[in-house]
Amino acid sequence: MKKNTISFPKAGLDKETLLQKMTERRANDTHWQTGKAFALVYHPGKERSEAIKAAYDMFFSENALNPTAFPSLRQFEAEVIAMTADLFHGDENTCGSLSSGGTESILLAVKTAREWGKKKMKIAHPEILIPETAHPAFYKAGYYFGVKVTKIPVREDFRVDMEAMKAAVSENTVLLVGSAPSYPHGVIDPISELSDLAVEKGLLLHVDACIGGFMTPFAKKLGWPIPDWDFSLPGVTSISADVHKYGYAAKGASTILYRNHELRKHQFYVITDWSGGIYGSPTMLGTRPGGAIAAAWAALMTIGEAGYLEMAARTLKATQMLQEGIAAHPELKIIGQPDVSLFAFGNSEEGKNIDIYALADELSKMGWSFDRNAVPISIHITVNQIHLEVVSDFLADLKTALDKVKKFRLSHVTSKVQIKAVKGLQKILPEGALAKIQSATAGKGGGGAPKAAMYGMMGALAGTGDLHTMVLNFLDKLNGLEKVEIKASESD
Ligand SMILES: *Cc1c(COP(=O)(O)O)cnc(C)c1O
Repeated sequence: MKKNTISFPKAGLDKETLLQKMTERRANDTHWQTGKAFALVYHPGKERSEAIKAAYDMFFSENALNPTAFPSLRQFEAEVIAMTADLFHGDENTCGSLSSGGTESILLAVKTAREWGKKKMKIAHPEILIPETAHPAFYKAGYYFGVKVTKIPVREDFRVDMEAMKAAVSENTVLLVGSAPSYPHGVIDPISELSDLAVEKGLLLHVDACIGGFMTPFAKKLGWPIPDWDFSLPGVTSISADVHKYGYAAKGASTILYRNHELRKHQFYVITDWSGGIYGSPTMLGTRPGGAIAAAWAALMTIGEAGYLEMAARTLKATQMLQEGIAAHPELKIIGQPDVSLFAFGNSEEGKNIDIYALADELSKMGWSFDRNAVPISIHITVNQIHLEVVSDFLADLKTALDKVKKFRLSHVTSKVQIKAVKGLQKILPEGALAKIQSATAGKGGGGAPKAAMYGMMGALAGTGDLHTMVLNFLDKLNGLEKVEIKASESD
């Protein structure tokens, strides 16, 4: 057998062997069930997730490609959209679609804005204005759909700078974007000012509530000071909100809502002269998984406002406790003033010698999973209701990790994972790129030594073709059979 190939399975496995093998494979996965994942997984607890899973299972085979075959799915989808519209202060004109995730919802919103611009406003080269902190899905949408994406700087509090936004509006602008909240810093952009600008200039305004949609309305009901960001503001024309995040549904469910049907029509795709007959499709997918749609409906119905309020209260309590525990270390600080349950923490002035990514590596070794922000360098935490049970464990591990990282002498500040990553990168780097990287980072603390912190190099290289090529090569490897070392471990 050739390297990096495996042969197609001959005889099939029986269920028991199959599940046994799969259980073994999971051994090194993040233990989200016990609250180790501060990203990626939202766990509503055993009882609720069993009900939602049963719903998924019931519609495992069904396909919403043709809703006339499965009126049940059509109705689930319509009701999820209507219930979400109600949560976001929509009216009888509010409409939308269920998509496979936040990225698809955002792709659809941008594609809709492009078509609206072309057809209604006669804008041949549409442009969208997004806060620099907006989700990569907007950049992806621009890349896929040939729409110019202009990034607008954020203020010191990480919310978009409205003066810069106003100044950037041009005759090609079709869409303004704000996040409620943004992923990296968990802050809500000044949506009401964006709404005023959209109304004044006759532009569309999309609010990315992918992560906040099923959290902020409940936080507000619980008395948290959440600014208005939804259809109650006249300028907001579309909203994305993921049921598979704080809606606690199965993966594969997000909502994209529009203020009216005329706007939503720009989202649809229709071909009337195909040899297979007339084909119309509301979203990007053809076949659409019945399970994800059924589970989205089941989540809203089985959890209900009372359940979401209860889980939001637990989540926000855990968030406060985590933030207090983190900020109690004089070397650390919370970045900005996060509005709800996601936030980042980095080093304070007093802790300026702490290598935050080394701290992150130590926490990863203890089984915690989270993201790492680049600007500023920080650890990103998304809290959900299960984390209330692990606050003290996390804070204890944080103390251990911090004590360890504080002892590193400066020469050891560069983390093992970074060294390893650099070594790994050397293998996949295009010829000569490493030399270029090293000279680029010389004088930025890297000193050109091979031990130069990878993230330091990344910072120096951000936006360059070399880094782009490196990441493409990495993705290529990651999407193959070959083992890729990505996790920190004691044995490094
Ligand atoms: C998660 C997220 C998205 C993208 O959603 P996916 O479901 O991962 O595709 C978009 N915007 C924000 C703010 C998010 O947090």
